Amino acid sequence: MFQSDVKGEQASILFEAAENVRRSVLDVLRERRDLEVKELKRVLDLSAHNAIRETLSNLGASMNVVSEEGEYTLGGGEAHLIVDPIDGTTNLARGVGYATTSIAISETPYLSGTLAAIVMELNSGLAYWAERGKGAWLGDSRIKPSGPAGVKDAMISIDISKGSYLRSLERLIYKAGHLRQLGCASISLCHVASGRIDAHIDYRGALRATDAAAALFILKEAGGVYIIDGAMDNDLMLSRGSRLRLVAASSQGLLDEIMSLIGERQGFAFREATKTREL
Ligand SMILES: [Mg+2]
Repeated sequence: MFQSDVKGEQASILFEAAENVRRSVLDVLRERRDLEVKELKRVLDLSAHNAIRETLSNLGASMNVVSEEGEYTLGGGEAHLIVDPIDGTTNLARGVGYATTSIAISETPYLSGTLAAIVMELNSGLAYWAERGKGAWLGDSRIKPSGPAGVKDAMISIDISKGSYLRSLERLIYKAGHLRQLGCASISLCHVASGRIDAHIDYRGALRATDAAAALFILKEAGGVYIIDGAMDNDLMLSRGSRLRLVAASSQGLLDEIMSLIGERQGFAFREATKTREL
């Protein structure tokens, strides 16, 4: 079945916004290569933010928009849009492949109300997307997580930036056979959704709802599982202030094994994550 056969109105809006973001950031990358990385990042983020706002305005959308770069309301604000205009701006500005635009639309200010989501790779234009109850897709193809794997054989990505919480992950890191860090939470989660990697862990307590909401919805529609702040399928408020500790996996068995390896030190992890949040 082709995506055009199943894509509904909400997904079509998300595709249009994502394609406009991609066009605008590729223009910036082509025309502003002279900029220092820090300034290039600022220009890229602003350009992506504006592309989404313009797309929604042109479509006459009625939405509360919660974006990493700011919040605004269009029309009566009937739906809720949670947006990271660019996830992985540092990668993008430095020419490292992994960067996306991530957008989810919800009927409530919570992840549980999500109706549709897209995570589009900005370099390739590949789009991971999902609609409630209709499964998850990569372009025209249905995606699903990988089959059962133990930590020893699995490919696991862990965000260990600013690693003050690393002790809680020590046993997992020693046991894991294949570790990766991509610098882009949304693509890491979509890789779990599509079976490219088996699990993604972010225990910093610093992951934002804007980074993760769209990809978590896609992962769930694909059949993957996750734990937020220690609770299975925990809901998430779609606000700029929301921060989460996340373990996502292809299967319940792998998720349970990861949690058992973290478990002994979960007290440490919680205190460290709380401390990070207060900084
Ligand atoms: Mg961002």
